[in-house]
Amino acid sequence: MSKKQATLDHISTDVLVIGGGNAALTAAITARELGLKVLVLESSPIEVRGGNSRHTRNIRYIHDAANSFLTGPYLEEECYNDLLMVTKGNTTEKMARLVIRGSHNVGDWMTAHGCRFQPAMRGTLHLSRTNAFFRGGGKGLINAYHETCRRLGVQVMYETEALDLEVANGTCTAVHAQGPKGEYLIRLRSVVLASGGYQGNRAWLREAWGPTADNFLIRGTPYDKGVMLKAMMEKGAKTIGDPTQGHCVAIDGRAPKFDGGICTRLDCVPFGIVVNKDGRRFYNEGEEFWPKRYAIWGRLVAGQPDQIGYVFIDAKSINLFMPSVFPPLESDTVGGLAEQMGLEPNAVEETVRAFNASTKPGSFNPGELDGLATEGLDPPKTNWARPLDTPPYYGYTLRPGITFTYLSLVINEQARVVQQDDTPFNNIFAAGEITSGNVLGQGYMAGFGMTIGTVFGRLAGKEAATCLMN
Ligand SMILES: Cc1cc2nc3c(=O)[nH]c(=O)nc-3n(C[C@H](O)[C@H](O)[C@H](O)COP(=O)(O)OP(=O)(O)OC[C@H]3O[C@@H](n4cnc5c(N)ncnc54)[C@H](O)[C@@H]3O)c2cc1C
Repeated sequence: MSKKQATLDHISTDVLVIGGGNAALTAAITARELGLKVLVLESSPIEVRGGNSRHTRNIRYIHDAANSFLTGPYLEEECYNDLLMVTKGNTTEKMARLVIRGSHNVGDWMTAHGCRFQPAMRGTLHLSRTNAFFRGGGKGLINAYHETCRRLGVQVMYETEALDLEVANGTCTAVHAQGPKGEYLIRLRSVVLASGGYQGNRAWLREAWGPTADNFLIRGTPYDKGVMLKAMMEKGAKTIGDPTQGHCVAIDGRAPKFDGGICTRLDCVPFGIVVNKDGRRFYNEGEEFWPKRYAIWGRLVAGQPDQIGYVFIDAKSINLFMPSVFPPLESDTVGGLAEQMGLEPNAVEETVRAFNASTKPGSFNPGELDGLATEGLDPPKTNWARPLDTPPYYGYTLRPGITFTYLSLVINEQARVVQQDDTPFNNIFAAGEITSGNVLGQGYMAGFGMTIGTVFGRLAGKEAATCLMN
């Protein structure tokens, strides 16, 4: 008997949840609390379970009043307007409002299922009114949800990757999976796909971006490879979103290829200048406060030769931003620093000379848009433009860091996956990053990835359970 046959038949469940992050676990808990048998497939080993969710720090949700960890009210219209601003209107209003309304006081549900919150810390992008921070970060949240799953009797299979689904006439009857002991055919009555985006799949990124994708760093899990997204596309699911859209920030060029997490972000760009490998500046480093601009710098760097940028600051600015996880390169001269970074020193020195000559006296204030701008420089620097003239000089390389991709399965208001003819599949639901494109056409709003996962996760879990009760 083959391995496959040996393990084929004895796995069956009511609700199969594919994924082990925030969206999956909220779906699993919800379905289990409605009395259904629930099985979770998590492709990663237990030690790094929880996908991108384990890297998170906070969730954005609407609430009517301040509490011990949120400093004031945050209501639907403000949240929707914030979303319109970051996406430049590239959202689906019906789905966006569904998420926002569904997030109302969701912290209460999270607390009831083990999450603990804490007040925002310094250096957290001014989010203390709108976003609730997890004590112990995303890892703490994932561990708490697993403990709840254990208590409720949700079964979790680690190192088990769903590979394909058996779907006929709009109904999924089974999923093929690969686990440490062989292949499984898992029979199910309904399924929730919560397996993240496709950013961990370098070949797919290359298809979307071309060879430049080889220089992208993936900030989160390597296990989000889009296997279920692709399988569903092949089964006739409708998709939404541009494959090159996603959350992409500029991170320390020395960060690992995967899983570097939050600490590889660099917040010094507004206080210095950024050049490409030819030693030339290419964008206004002082356009806006960093929290409002950091997410465009990943794409900016991706557009430069070899997808690399070099940020230069001087001694005046070294203490103005959150310390970097890796120490900066340092030199007493601009040329010396350029050389250490592998750049042509003359080119960088010339750029710095031109930049310094275009700065003017004025009052520098990192806490506001101080209007201290360059004059006659292209591109300009419109705030915080002080000359680079005080050694030692410090430098970092910047690379595009992909957080997650937006190409998604279209879902309806029951979180049911929709087919190309616009009818929903009968028992296939989805939540989290694999659905983010329903709300995020471009841009990003801090803490909203967890909102999308929690709201759609709860909805998908409820609908996947109740569709079996009728
Ligand atoms: C460094 C970093 C910091 C972030 N900080 C925040 C933050 O503070 N707030 C916020 O809102 N968002 C943040 N995000 C974004 C956030 O992580 C995601 O939006 C959110 O975690 C998505 O949850 P998810 O459950 O959809 O996906 P994930 O958490 O990525 O979970 C997907 C799961 O599916 C599993 N999986 C994948 N394919 C398969 C398969 N075929 N079979 C079985 N299992 C599979 C993976 O192993 C993983 O467990 C951050 C992301 C990163 C990378």
